[in-house]
Amino acid sequence: MSSRRPMIAANWKMNGLLADGRLLARAVSEAAASAAPLCFDVVVCPPATLTYAVGEILKGSSVLLGAQDCVAAPQGAFTGDLSAPMFADLGAKALILGHSERRHGHGETSVQVAEKVKAAQAAGLITIVCVGETAAELDAGCTKAVLTQQVRESVPENVDSSKLVIAYEPVWAIGTGRQPVPSDVVTAHQLIRSLLGPMGPTVRILYGGSVNAANVGSISCEKEVDGVLVGGASLKAESFWSIAESFQKRVCLAA
Ligand code: PEP
Repeated sequence: MSSRRPMIAANWKMNGLLADGRLLARAVSEAAASAAPLCFDVVVCPPATLTYAVGEILKGSSVLLGAQDCVAAPQGAFTGDLSAPMFADLGAKALILGHSERRHGHGETSVQVAEKVKAAQAAGLITIVCVGETAAELDAGCTKAVLTQQVRESVPENVDSSKLVIAYEPVWAIGTGRQPVPSDVVTAHQLIRSLLGPMGPTVRILYGGSVNAANVGSISCEKEVDGVLVGGASLKAESFWSIAESFQKRVCLAA
């Protein structure tokens, strides 16, 4: 059994106003309390506008507060941007970086992602670095080349591996209902692990892309998969918690 503690992370993306966010955070925190002790880490990453309110609800809970994206600078003349120390100041423990919606929607490069990883780790945050191929890259047989380039360039030198999590998220699987077969997920995770060199065996690698309560079982039983990053299905506490429970069963029953 792997000694890597699974992580189940919720990416709320740009969803939720104050009232919905509070309700969802409360429901997740109550589910975590009734399932305690947890055999995995749970992270909830609301939009920045909800960081403070969700953080207040999660205080004292085993659910970790996370956030989405940052700029590399700690402060300064960056109108509309938010920095890693700002999220840490609100109690965030983790940050999603290099998501495909940033890479492809905002032209973010792997080199920029690496700068953000450095800034977030300097602020004490766990960095969840997303990598993954597009549908065109998959069809062209370039998955291995894309993952190699993204992992090599997005993970900075001297990274703190205890604060590094990689999320393998094929872009074509995000929000589409499509997914790679589990053996392809395992192959991608093994490649990513090997690219990480000596730290590979200890770094958690999550899968993300259309994970829901009905399909998580085929992924959670793969030992190579150290958890999941969940978008759409994390917006309902019941579906998010069923996904988390799939890992609770795997880890606790194997212990
Ligand atoms: C995501 O955007 O990180 C994600 C995995 O989304 P979904 O679960 O909706 O595919």
